[in-house]
Amino acid sequence: MSRICAVGAGFSGAVIARELAERGHRVLVADQRSTIAGNCYSERDSETGIMVHKYGPHIFHTASERVWKYINRFTTMMPYVNRVKATVRGKVYSLPVNLHTINQFFDLAMTPDEARAFVESKARTDIEEPQTFEEQALRFVGNELYEAFFQGYTRKQWGVDPDQLPAAILKRLPLRFNYDDNYFNHPYQGMPENGYTDIIAGILNHENIEVRLNCAFEELDEVFRHVFYSGPLDQYFHCDLGRLGYRTLDFEEIRAKGDLQGTAVMNYPDEDVPYTRISEHKHFAPWESAGFERTIAFREYSRACGPNDVPYYPIRLVNDKKLLNDYEARAAQEEGVTFVGRLGTYQYLDMDVTIERALDSAKSYLEKNRSRF
Ligand code: UDP
Repeated sequence: MSRICAVGAGFSGAVIARELAERGHRVLVADQRSTIAGNCYSERDSETGIMVHKYGPHIFHTASERVWKYINRFTTMMPYVNRVKATVRGKVYSLPVNLHTINQFFDLAMTPDEARAFVESKARTDIEEPQTFEEQALRFVGNELYEAFFQGYTRKQWGVDPDQLPAAILKRLPLRFNYDDNYFNHPYQGMPENGYTDIIAGILNHENIEVRLNCAFEELDEVFRHVFYSGPLDQYFHCDLGRLGYRTLDFEEIRAKGDLQGTAVMNYPDEDVPYTRISEHKHFAPWESAGFERTIAFREYSRACGPNDVPYYPIRLVNDKKLLNDYEARAAQEEGVTFVGRLGTYQYLDMDVTIERALDSAKSYLEKNRSRF
């Protein structure tokens, strides 16, 4: 019986491979990188011992009990709550925009109801159904908070004006009229005790799974029963209709003694600061951070993704739907291939949604092919 191939050893490929392997299928997981875990790869820095998220901060959070149970099979999740700060025009504020932020920013001491009425008075209530990021922001927080916290950051992060971007990007962030500064609304949140690479290694550790690294999909000459492809959707078709827009990130490393910024993530929304945020990685592991005398942090710069760069974020410009639709139509017609994951479906997916979709993809494959197996 021929094997199944999962292209990409990130969460999508690994979870699908495991689900199929546990039901007796043999799976080859091929990744062109020299490491597993895709962009959630983490490793201990050899000088300091600090667990570093090599491709930027990854904080696990989910509303799905199924996903939470799944991830806990492969790691011990340590308590972690993502609390992000922002430096704006020389002052530090609390994020996501909450009652503290609003009171700090306007130098007031409002109650929740007062703040709600105050922000509503600033909001562009004439925008009934916000379509773009900018409309969404103006509708919900008004011009001053938008310009301070979102406009510059978003231009730097996405390389376009926020009126070109879908409203969905901003809908990721809550707006709160209390002092809750948990960045996420989800009931489950945590950080894996031994990093993300360790989770993926555990998922891939099955007798029916072979992992092949430094191996591009095109190099394989085996005939597979089915392919789950988590590489970039346009690359699968050799970009022959054109390139879908992605953003890539550059990281500038800072090493220092002690504590650099006193928190894991500090955002820099001001447009005249070239980076978007600084993440200090020992603070992602509060249960061990006091044990490190030195610290390591990264300034994060976003830019257009070239052909040889690592793609991170699918841009999905509001006016750029046609190219995506064309690739999606071709993908739907491709026999024996399922496109999965952030890059394979060209969607801004968090880790938990990636896992949930991977579980669903494997389940639906198994159901469809029950009689043939
Ligand atoms: N955002 C912003 N200012 C901030 C943080 C986020 O304008 O201080 C916007 C920005 O457009 C960003 C989006 O909200 O891309 C989603 O933010 P999130 O923190 O979820 O981004 P991620 O951690 O996935 O890069």
